[in-house]
Amino acid sequence: MAAQPSTAAPALILLGPPGAGKGTQAQLLIERRGMVQLSTGDMLRAAVAAGTPVGQEARAIMERGELVPDSVVSALIDEALGRIPAGQGVIFDGYPRTVAQAEALDGLLARHARRLSRVIELQVDEEALIDRISGRFACARCGAGYHDRHKRPRAPGVCDVCGSTEFRRRPDDTAETVRTRLAEYRAKTAPILPVYEARGLVARVDGMAPIEEVARAIDRLLVDADRPHP
Ligand SMILES: [Zn+2]
Repeated sequence: MAAQPSTAAPALILLGPPGAGKGTQAQLLIERRGMVQLSTGDMLRAAVAAGTPVGQEARAIMERGELVPDSVVSALIDEALGRIPAGQGVIFDGYPRTVAQAEALDGLLARHARRLSRVIELQVDEEALIDRISGRFACARCGAGYHDRHKRPRAPGVCDVCGSTEFRRRPDDTAETVRTRLAEYRAKTAPILPVYEARGLVARVDGMAPIEEVARAIDRLLVDADRPHP
């Protein structure tokens, strides 16, 4: 093989429960490092819409009400990696979910002269996350965000920004839904985390820290991963 996987752009799996800031950090990696986010759900919808050969196969399977098999997801990722320039880093989102998919991903990356740099998990403190989410509300007119305990309007009941006196709360911003989402997240990642732990690829970052601090921690991990392994 001509290309050297160790010098290729980073390939990262970003994990984190809802509320950990995964979307924000992925967006920063896209803006600052020019990385591409490969979300299998989005890729599937795009392939179906574009009518590519894989998309047509996926559409037929979904119309029969069946789950899209790993082979189709692999073909999508293969297609995407073939399109993305070698110098551009990739972030995997929502994939892999199973040990078989994790093994398939290794093969796909190798085919494109890449290797997995890191599996970064944004960690949350359950009680702190519940506190953060369950107290939030927003101005109904301008959307300015507030919090019952941490960021109340300066004048009670009046929006700081636009003066509106109407506010709204999302009905699913409750302690119970946060706990459910965290449990779902743990169940989803449980199969693959040990696989990557055993390979020393998993790094955990405190997702409750300020956004820029989290971004710096991720950056350091990617720089470390770029160094040749002894
Ligand atoms: Zn307002």
